[in-house]
This record gives sequence, structure tokens and C-alpha cells, in this order.
Amino acid sequence: MKAGIHPEYKKTVIRCSCGAEYEVGSTKENLRVEVCSACHPFFTGSRQRTHTKGGRIQRFREKYGLE
Ligand SMILES: [Zn+2]
Repeated sequence: MKAGIHPEYKKTVIRCSCGAEYEVGSTKENLRVEVCSACHPFFTGSRQRTHTKGGRIQRFREKYGLE
């Protein structure tokens, strides 16, 4: 990492439209976002898919006696 080419990082708060707040290090201040990891469809959707997939595997294992 070369000195002098990176902007100074400050503590700032990102506020999401869902109400979640995150304190992060950023070169910008008082950021606002429409979606975050708590409400973004990509994250919530992937969690639901993981649960569904896990349930199917669990049923598969029970069906074939693999505990
Ligand atoms: Zn959010």
C-alpha cells in the first residue's frame, strides 16, 4: 500500500430505507441506501433458498435412512 494515494477513512453511519443502520468506515458521510443486507432480495432470497434446499436434503436423508 502506497502512502498518500488513499483518501482518509472516517466513521459514518449508513441508513437504509428499512430502518437498519450500519456504522462503517467510509470516505463519505451520512450515506443512505435503499436496500441493505437485512432487506435486499438477494440476501433474503438466498437465505430462503438455502433453507428450502436444506429441508429437501433432510427429507432425502430421512427417506433413505441416512439420518
Ligand atoms: Zn435494509
